Formats: sequence, structure tokens, C-alpha cells
Amino acid sequence: MISIPSPLRLRLDSAALIANWRWLAAESGGAACGAAIKADGYGLGARAVMEHLVKAGCRDFFVATWAEAAALMPLPEGVSLSVLHGVGSTDMVAARMLPARPVLNSLEQVARWRDAGEGRPCDVMIDTGMNRLGLRVEEALGGALDGLAIHTLLSHLASADEDSPQNAQQLAAFRAVREKVSARRYSLANSAGICLGAEYAFDLTRPGIALYGGIPRAESEGKLRQVVFPEARLLQMRGVPASESVGYGATWTAQADSRVAVVNMGYADGYLRCHAGRGGATWNGKALPLIGRVSMDLIAFDASGAAGLNEGDWLAVDYDLPGVASASGLSQYELLTGLGARFDRFWI
Ligand SMILES: *Cc1c(COP(=O)(O)O)cnc(C)c1O
Repeated sequence: MISIPSPLRLRLDSAALIANWRWLAAESGGAACGAAIKADGYGLGARAVMEHLVKAGCRDFFVATWAEAAALMPLPEGVSLSVLHGVGSTDMVAARMLPARPVLNSLEQVARWRDAGEGRPCDVMIDTGMNRLGLRVEEALGGALDGLAIHTLLSHLASADEDSPQNAQQLAAFRAVREKVSARRYSLANSAGICLGAEYAFDLTRPGIALYGGIPRAESEGKLRQVVFPEARLLQMRGVPASESVGYGATWTAQADSRVAVVNMGYADGYLRCHAGRGGATWNGKALPLIGRVSMDLIAFDASGAAGLNEGDWLAVDYDLPGVASASGLSQYELLTGLGARFDRFWI
């Protein structure tokens, strides 16, 4: 196979990823700090994220589905992998074959694992108020889990990124379950939950977004580094005379004679139309505002202030997650997981 370079690339900063994990591990106090690497490591590449974090000392990883688990095989030595969506009726072959634990989410899943799990250990999710996945507290306390070999008992916080009374309510509910249901380890906190304080950490934390440079709560501002740097190659430079317009719908009109940089990136790459009027890029320290509409494969920047910029040069697309999220209306999660397959991903 020849390798064909893409006009789009994600520069991924492994030192920043590891520094973020170390900060989260320190904030987790005595608890082990794991990593959520579902959705292909939030778009960065799950296998590479796992390898970098294993080197830093991370041992506990979480994916959503068995297909995601299979893509991570063979696992590095000593690594624990949990599959958050548990075992549906079509998952048992994979669940018996792969060295990963299901996170059982319902009485049906518990029964399925008892019947066909060959006594292997599992994890269990308790729903303490989010009403998404997990056994209800009364189900967990009603004997459904008796005799099950539970490795990690989990619950998930619904509002940890806000100062909501729901956080303390879920903490109290999880503590009560912990008194009654025995497991080797207990785990509650995602990234935002880690920022809520040590009492949320229990034995194991499960950060995702903060590893990748997202800011889950104000407590982490200034502590976490940007990991993902999208870059796009300049396809064409053009002069646009004053009063002419650029792009579909002619939504931008040149006020003066302008130089416009047209770049290989668009909404098919996850750079969505809501960036119009707000997005930007830099080249050589100069800011280039996004102009006009976002097309499927193309966007345009006003490069009038960037003398010397030429075809084939790479622009660094603005992707500071909290800033771009508030400007675009997308969440920090969507900004990462939407980044498409046309980016070459390379780690520095
Ligand atoms: C995705 C996920 C996490 C990580 O959440 P972040 O908000 O990205 O830190 C942790 N636990 C569960 C159950 C998840 O689904």
C-alpha cells in the first residue's frame, strides 16, 4: 500500500495527554485513575491513547461496545478493559472471547451473564438518578446481584459539570449501595466528578474529556493542556476584489480588495456550519478569520493580513475546546468526537 498524505491532519500532543492524566490522577487522591476511550478515544484514536496512557501508568480503560473492545486487542500486559454497554443478546460470543469485562446494566444483562458468563468477573452499573443505564438502587439491593463476582461497581454522575444538588444526592445513593453490595472496587467520578472533590473518587476514577484537553469545570481551568490541534492545507489563494462575495449563499462580501485562503476542510470532517462567523485559524502567528459558509470539503479564511502565505502551507485551525465550544454552541465532546476519518492523526 502506498501512503497518500491527507490535506488534513490532527497534531496530537502525547506529552499534554499524559500531563492531563497525571493531573487527574493526582486529583483522584488515593483512587486509581482510569481512562474513558470510547468513540475511538474521543476521536483521537483509542489504541494510541491507550498506549500512551499505559506508559504513564494508567491501567483501567473503558469503551462503549464490544466492537470497540475488539479493536484494542491484543491488550497490553496488565490492562483492565470494561465495556460500558454490557451484554446484549448478540454480545455473548464477543464477551466470552475477549479479555474484557461487561458492565452489566439491567436485570436482563445480569441474568444473561449468570447463564452464559461461565462465572467470570463482571462490572455492574447502578443508576443513582440519571435514568440512563444501570440497575435501579432497589433492584441492586433486592438480591439480584447476590453471588455475582463483581469486579467494579459503578455509577455515573448526571450533572457533575454543574453545581447541582443532584451531585450530593447521587453521592449519598452510591455510598448507600456500597454498604450493601460487595465488589472489589467502587467507581463514580468522570472528569467533572474528579473536580468535585476527593469524596467522589472512591477506588477508581474514569475521566474522558479532561484527558483530551476539555475543561469540565472551572476548578480545572489552567490545569489541563490542549491535546488536539487540527491543521488544514491551503488548497488555493485567491484575490477577491472589494464588493465580491465568497461561498454558498454569498454570505460574506469583501469590504476591500482581499486575499482569501481556501482550505481542504468542511462539515464532512466534523467542522460544522455553526463555526461560520466565529471560527478562525492561524498561520505564522497571524489570525485568519473564517469567512462565508462552511462547505462539505472546503472553507475560506480572510488571509489579507497574512502576507507570504502560499498554496500548500498548513493553517492551524482554532480548536481551544472551551472557547470554540462557547462560540459555536457545540459541546467540547462534539468538537472532539466529530473529527472525521479524513484527518491523518499523528502524535508528537
Ligand atoms: C463517557 C463516560 C465517562 C467519561 O466521562 P467524561 O465526562 O468524558 O469524563 C465516565 N464514565 C462513564 C460511564 C461514561 O460513559
